[in-house]
Amino acid sequence: MYLESLTLRDYRNYEDLNVSFSPAINILLGENAQGKTNLLEAIYVLSMTRSHRTNNDKELIKWDKTAAIIQGRVNKQLGTVPLEIQVNSKGKKAKVNHLEQAKLSQYIGQFNVILFAPEDLALVKGAPAVRRRFVDMEFGQINARYLYNLGQYRTILKQRNQYLKQLQHKKNQDLVFLDVLSDQLAAFGAEIVHQRLIFLKQLEFWANQLQEEITQSAETLTFEYATHLEDAADQTIEQLYAQLQNDLKKATKKEIFQGTTLAGPHRDDVRFLINGKNVQTYGSQGQQRTTALSVKLAEIELMKEETGEYPVLLLDDVLSELDDMRQTHLLKTIQNKVQTFLTTPNLSGIARTLINEPKIFHINQGN
Ligand code: ATP
Ligand code: MG
Repeated sequence: MYLESLTLRDYRNYEDLNVSFSPAINILLGENAQGKTNLLEAIYVLSMTRSHRTNNDKELIKWDKTAAIIQGRVNKQLGTVPLEIQVNSKGKKAKVNHLEQAKLSQYIGQFNVILFAPEDLALVKGAPAVRRRFVDMEFGQINARYLYNLGQYRTILKQRNQYLKQLQHKKNQDLVFLDVLSDQLAAFGAEIVHQRLIFLKQLEFWANQLQEEITQSAETLTFEYATHLEDAADQTIEQLYAQLQNDLKKATKKEIFQGTTLAGPHRDDVRFLINGKNVQTYGSQGQQRTTALSVKLAEIELMKEETGEYPVLLLDDVLSELDDMRQTHLLKTIQNKVQTFLTTPNLSGIARTLINEPKIFHINQGN
């Protein structure tokens, strides 16, 4: 799929923008603070209904204005789909084919993007939360059921944590309601773990191919899902559910004391191993970067496999962070396959690596 055109009204520093894009490579060229990332962010919001930079939607509205509108036409195998996101002080609306969607989760999946920013190079060395967010965002885009499970899980988790805090101050603790919440949490949690394991296996396959290519077969990349659940990979959903229920029961006393839920997929992690050794602990800077790149690029293939179409790739200032060899691999992967938007303050180095003529947009103060 690719984004044919984009219209922005009162979005960040864009008052009124109307542009058509190349289905291949689009370069957003401009000095600092002109609106390059804002434009990429708008494309991201059109895909995910939310920004990758902020949880506060109001920041997306142009200063002194009351509402921001993002409209895009997405070209898919089955035809062109108009999409729209509107943000105002009360909330936001998402439209597909001019029809407002009752839930934002119904909207996600229409238009798939993968964003790669310098922070993503921290995917390997960052905290577990960074990897969980990565897993949830990516798998949520390709699988509606995953997104649904995740939404339910988060709601119940929040409720359960609140209830645990209430229990701290009660003499006669009524654990029946807690059991109900634990049961629901375990049900959604088990399915989340199960789905994560399946998608991670697929992602691992593509990531390893890339890693071997980049390192000329010197490095084999494997993934390990880190969870308190035993033998998670070999368990059925029912078995995972039973284990999770059990783990929650065992932890109850400690949970009430700490006022928070201690077992479940919200605490799991993913480990990346090169030739069997954890890259986070033992990998060199270069190995950590290559691994992050392989994992990110593997998503392109996973999305194609799961949805039948390639996603759109958004690269924010990443080329300058990669050395020549990694740049070449990145550009080789995307050539002729994936519509790409990349931001840069100058063209040196980029143009010579690209085989196809890119479409270049000069960005100057929101124009
Ligand atoms: P860099 O090369 O430094 O990354 P950039 O071109 O990516 O620069 P952006 O992040 O896209 O820059 O734009 C930042 C500018 O957008 C800020 O300087 C700010 O003035 C402006 N801006 C951000 N939010 C809003 C808003 N809600 N309304 C108006 N202007 C905004
Ligand atoms: Mg920027």
